Amino acid sequence: MTRTQKNRSAFFVNRIRRIASTSSLVVGSCALIAIVMVGLCGLVLYQGRLDALSHTRDTLRDISLIAQRDIERNFELYELSLQAVVDGLQQPEVMALPPHLRRQVLFDRAASARYLGSMLVLDAAGNIVIDSGSDTPRAGNFADRPYFIVQRDHPDVGLYISDPYQSRLRGGEPSIALTRRLSHPDGSFAGIVLLSVNLEYFHKLFAGLSLGPHGSMSLIGHNGIMIMRQPYDLRIVGRSIKGASTYRHFLSAPEGSFSETASIDGTRRLYWFSNFPRYPLIIMVAAADQDIYAAWRRRTLFIGSLMLAFGSAFVALSMLLGVQLRRRMRAESELQLLARTDGLTGLNNRRSLGEILEQEWRRARRNRSVMSLLFLDIDRFKAYNDTYGHQAGDDALAVVARCISASIRRPADTAARYGGEEFVVVLPETPASGAAEIAERIRSAIAGCEIEHAGSEYGRVTASIGVVSRVPETGDDLSAAIKAADEALYQAKISGRNRVSQYEP
Ligand code: GH3
Ligand code: MG
Ligand code: MG
Repeated sequence: MTRTQKNRSAFFVNRIRRIASTSSLVVGSCALIAIVMVGLCGLVLYQGRLDALSHTRDTLRDISLIAQRDIERNFELYELSLQAVVDGLQQPEVMALPPHLRRQVLFDRAASARYLGSMLVLDAAGNIVIDSGSDTPRAGNFADRPYFIVQRDHPDVGLYISDPYQSRLRGGEPSIALTRRLSHPDGSFAGIVLLSVNLEYFHKLFAGLSLGPHGSMSLIGHNGIMIMRQPYDLRIVGRSIKGASTYRHFLSAPEGSFSETASIDGTRRLYWFSNFPRYPLIIMVAAADQDIYAAWRRRTLFIGSLMLAFGSAFVALSMLLGVQLRRRMRAESELQLLARTDGLTGLNNRRSLGEILEQEWRRARRNRSVMSLLFLDIDRFKAYNDTYGHQAGDDALAVVARCISASIRRPADTAARYGGEEFVVVLPETPASGAAEIAERIRSAIAGCEIEHAGSEYGRVTASIGVVSRVPETGDDLSAAIKAADEALYQAKISGRNRVSQYEP
């Protein structure tokens, strides 16, 4: 590869590097913007997910509080009713009243409240002695029931809340009982007062609170027995959940929340639980993950699809822009190169030569270095054209240009077509002797091509070269140096052509 070709390809490599780095910068910036947009969108969506969770937790706490307050208020009333019976039974005047009056005094109107089964007084053997439902007590013995046994065997129990059972007096209706012990003046067991609550009460209460399609709500005894669960399932009521991991959470704190997959139906839920401060009961409210995130999921799908569509369009557009930019810059650089190059010979053209000469002249002046110029003119070229035709003349010009390029070696050396069949070679930091050597190399390379030229005294295409070497001083004129080279060329012409002539002032 010749020096000039090397210079040309270095120019191209630099241009292509610049084009590639500019278009990579554009595509890279667009990709960065797209990534930031996707990141921000992801952050907002993730925040939305956290908000959905925290909002649900608040709702669960509110629902649990509503249910807990309702149950506590009713249980307080039941406790008062039980206490009223205990107190009344200790007053002989009350016991002396006729049965219908005694019933009215012992069982206040709370006994007739909705969901209340019956209030009974049982004797020490478990038989009904006073019945809120009738003046003549219904026949029944409940000595086998845990609520009776516990009060009989443990004098200090106080209020006892039973596990769910099926009522014998009311056709097997699921109920729980609240009982208090009756004692003789000596402290010995005298029986119990019993108030039974229909489980329908909890069922209705829970059903009225909205928990989403897959939500659940439970009332559980401290002993792990399920008193009521929504969705309602009679098989679960009365069952122990002591083995379930959720139960361990319930006992770990007075109240709190956690997420877990339910052992009963395999659904993952967010739980809120609260232990009743005054009763051995736990209320648990749960919302299924699929309900908590349903709206969020729909929104994410919508926004995500939009983001994907816009993001893809953005990336596609930016890539298109990158391609267009690359194409345009390449076209521009090719134009620039064309503007600097001579079309026939591929050497620098006159305009480019002017720039290079100016630049090297200034550098030589700055560095106080010697700079040489070769002025080359093909001999008898008019005759060549006349003999072989203009096309052949052009071909010969290209061959001469290649000879010149091949003969200069340093990166800074530059060859240019000055015009017609004249060429200039710029040789920075080259003294007269070196310049003459290069000029001779060029001359002999051209002559060595043996291009037939009948009109020449040498019988082949030859060239004459004028050489000038200068250390530019301040005020020295570049055009004077070119003129000197031209004069040296004239000397070469008149002294026989096909030779190199140094400028002699
Ligand atoms: P001398 O030895 O004194 O230099 O003689 P010459 O004929 O080379 O000199 P002259 O300046 O009279 O002629 C130059 C000729 O070069 C004129 C033209 O025919 C030819 N020429 C100039 N530019 C081109 C070109 O681009 N293509 C071709 N084919 N010929 C050109
Ligand atoms: Mg000429
Ligand atoms: Mg000529």
